[in-house]
Amino acid sequence: MVVRAIGKQAVVIGASMAGLAAARALADHFERVIVLERDRLPEQAVPRAGTPQSRHLHVLLPGGQRALTDLFPHFERDLANAGSVPLRMSRDVRMEIPGLGPLPSRDFGWFLYCASRPLIELITRRQAERLTNLTMRPGCRVLEITATPDGTMVTGVICEDAEGRQETLAADLVVDASGRGAPTLALLRSSGQPVPDEIVIGVDLHYTTTTFAIPQDASTDWGGVATHPHAPERSRGGYLMPVEGNRWVVTLSGRLGEQPPAEPDGFMDYARRLETQTVYNAIAHAERQGGFERYAFPASVWRRFDRLSAFPRGLLPIGDSICRFNPVYGQGMSAAAQEGRLLRQLLQGRATKADPLAGLALAFFSESLPLVEGPWNMSAIPDLVYPETRGERPADFESRLQYNGALLRAAMRDPAVHRLLAEVQQLLKPPSALQERAVERLVQLELSQMAAE
Ligand SMILES: Cc1cc2nc3c(=O)[nH]c(=O)nc-3n(C[C@H](O)[C@H](O)[C@H](O)COP(=O)(O)OP(=O)(O)OC[C@H]3O[C@@H](n4cnc5c(N)ncnc54)[C@H](O)[C@@H]3O)c2cc1C
Repeated sequence: MVVRAIGKQAVVIGASMAGLAAARALADHFERVIVLERDRLPEQAVPRAGTPQSRHLHVLLPGGQRALTDLFPHFERDLANAGSVPLRMSRDVRMEIPGLGPLPSRDFGWFLYCASRPLIELITRRQAERLTNLTMRPGCRVLEITATPDGTMVTGVICEDAEGRQETLAADLVVDASGRGAPTLALLRSSGQPVPDEIVIGVDLHYTTTTFAIPQDASTDWGGVATHPHAPERSRGGYLMPVEGNRWVVTLSGRLGEQPPAEPDGFMDYARRLETQTVYNAIAHAERQGGFERYAFPASVWRRFDRLSAFPRGLLPIGDSICRFNPVYGQGMSAAAQEGRLLRQLLQGRATKADPLAGLALAFFSESLPLVEGPWNMSAIPDLVYPETRGERPADFESRLQYNGALLRAAMRDPAVHRLLAEVQQLLKPPSALQERAVERLVQLELSQMAAE
């Protein structure tokens, strides 16, 4: 239902997580919202070509889960009813930190709903499809964003259906949730406007993923496991999570030349040589159900749209089109959902203005900065620990590293610090929440002990 109309028609490019979250925000303020997706969208929770990452382990962090539930009130209920596996944080998830051991199993009172990426997306899409003014057009690829000759005002898109028929759609607002942001960059370049600077962290990450039936005698001490690599000496990581259908999705990762094998013996051997045997022991006698899927992720890329001083009216990139996070930290879907929620708040706040779309993109870039910067910094520092990682190290890199190490040690000892750290890492609170006096004091204590060791 349109709460207060800002325009007649909005178009969203891409029906993945960012596109769906944005479409929900737009539906309150545009008479029609059209979501254009180049893929045919499956009726079942199965991977599709436009999101090849969907074959790999995806964790929806509680911060993203909350944002999606704010946007779609039945999201969490429907995800729970669709067979996702609720794990109590952080009691049921064994986080293995090299050099420190597993973080203590403590119950913080919130759940992680574990599901395959296709199920998370399907449940989100089903919510969006209930919006009466939203039209989903699968099998429809956007060829270009149209604009006035100087490129400063977007007028719509040209798209093409599966039969090759082209059509021009007018739009007051085009949201680019295409993942790579190619339509936005093409418009900026073709009209001679500045493109955003990019911050690139070359992580050269490789995933290999498969699934197993959860054996009847599976450990009851934990529901999921993350075995982190012993950086910077070694880069092997192992991640095991339950999903719908009584399955474990197991992703092995490696960096900078280290690639987990995609055949049975090599995969098991790689799992056996992780920092601990937890993942290997779990799957050693489990029945493998799927083949092996690989994914190469060369670099995290943050496009600094927030640094531009002008941007075409009627255009807004969102989600991965702004920032592609290193997937091992599980932040991308959640950041996209939080950006969708922010867009909704922004549109609500602007709806009564004489010209609500004037300056919308620049306001969005500025207000969404903390939603990107927080997770980016949390992943960039540990990524840059590997000397071969490409990217600029901040001037205070060494002290930030020390701080992170001390914070982890404090979290091991102190349940309140552990809880706060989990809230920040799971995007429930901003990193500034860690600046509490009591936390600072414990971190300082750990730093002094580390210096003495
Ligand atoms: C290996 C891997 C593992 C990951 N694991 C996690 C995880 O554990 N947790 C997490 O939160 N995130 C994870 N992510 C990130 C997550 O997948 C994305 O951040 C999330 O999907 C949001 O992306 P998006 O919607 O912006 O773009 P995408 O998911 O890339 O979707 C873009 C959509 O746009 C469509 N499209 C593209 N171009 C056009 C066009 N011209 N016309 C029409 N449609 C178009 C595509 O088909 C696609 O549907 C992972 C990513 C990778 C690569």
